[in-house]
Amino acid sequence: MASKSSTTLLSGWLTRRLCRHFISHIQKHYSTATAGTAVLPTNQHSNHEESARTQSRRRQLPNEIKPLSHFLEDKFGRHHTYLRISLTEKCSLRCTYCMPEEGVDLTPTNKLLSTKEIIELAKLFVRTGVKKIRFTGGEPLVRRDICDVISELNYLRKNDETYAHLQMLGITTNGVVLSRKLPGLLKAGLDSANISLDTLVPEKFTFITRRNGFDKVMRGIKDAVESDLRTVKINNVVMRGLNDDEICDFVQLTQHQHVDIRFIEYMPFDGNRWNSNKMVPFRELLSKIKGKWPDIEKLQDSANDTSKAYKVPGFKGQIGFISSMSDHFCGTCNRVRITADGNFKVCLFGGNEISLRDALRSGKSEDEMLAIIETAVKKKKARHAGMLNLAEMKNRPMILIGG
Ligand code: SAM
Ligand code: SF4
Repeated sequence: MASKSSTTLLSGWLTRRLCRHFISHIQKHYSTATAGTAVLPTNQHSNHEESARTQSRRRQLPNEIKPLSHFLEDKFGRHHTYLRISLTEKCSLRCTYCMPEEGVDLTPTNKLLSTKEIIELAKLFVRTGVKKIRFTGGEPLVRRDICDVISELNYLRKNDETYAHLQMLGITTNGVVLSRKLPGLLKAGLDSANISLDTLVPEKFTFITRRNGFDKVMRGIKDAVESDLRTVKINNVVMRGLNDDEICDFVQLTQHQHVDIRFIEYMPFDGNRWNSNKMVPFRELLSKIKGKWPDIEKLQDSANDTSKAYKVPGFKGQIGFISSMSDHFCGTCNRVRITADGNFKVCLFGGNEISLRDALRSGKSEDEMLAIIETAVKKKKARHAGMLNLAEMKNRPMILIGG
């Protein structure tokens, strides 16, 4: 069952509805006996009603955008100002869509980026024009030095003009230990948390993630929503026959919560047994949602948004679709990635990688590092190969990339 605090926050309507659909679903698919339910908590002061503390933090961030450097511009004129850094290959969960059933071979610790190297690379990228950094994994919160890394970058953006254009420090997390780590993360300067949650049904959570932890994740979401974080988003990977029956329940959560729920199309990676039938295209999801809320509105997306934003009129929160498979957004992609073992990846779906760890460890100068980065960026393709081709191509399992 969901924890007391989660369940007390259920609306009666949603409770009855979830129980009904879960029981029938689980009987059909998993033969698990007991049902449990949960929804997001009612936040006393939402993350949109910013506290004085958040506002003062925001005031310290400059609005102007620094001139963009050519090192991060590709042949197609895309400026890569968003860096994702994977902090670890380890994870407390084993999501079926991310982690191969047989697990992954972990890189020896001495070949993973050290705290100092992560900070050094992050600083180099910010000096070169990166404005947003998101830490991912594996599960970034299993790495003990995460607050040290965030704190150092936060200090620099507040105290050194060279780093003042760093607008966002975020994490993507499975939420399992978020409650415990949140005070430290906020103190360090974290702005944003994307939290993964694919189901509102505890037993289904255990099936999808191959681990327990549903109540902890719900608690983590509650605490994040009630905290001073500037943005809290929920990532939901939609899989046909597994959690696509819960779409409207997730949309319903946005009625009273200032959260952004993003439905992500299931993507193929090594070892995740993807097939095109399991992927639910965003148009199908949208039409299902329109069946219930015909007046759902399209919101204006920002230039580099990967998500197509919508809102049910009168609801506090919003939803979005990340349609990487059925309607890619490669033309406006501004993201580059560094894996936990220090490889630079210019495309989530590209097999091409270059080791920045080795370059750093061999004592390359800043100019030499930038030349390596620029060469990789200039080789970035216009778009990914298309979902059916991607399924055949060699790439890392998602857990070794970082979404
Ligand atoms: N452990 C953290 C988490 O789960 O949020 C961060 C790492 S996880 C690899 C980053 C994001 O990638 C998560 O939101 C996850 O749902 C998403 N993801 C993983 N595998 C995926 C797949 N095959 N298709 C679509 N999204 C995927
Ligand atoms: Fe771990 Fe996140 Fe991958 Fe799930 S999606 S196995 S939580 S890294």
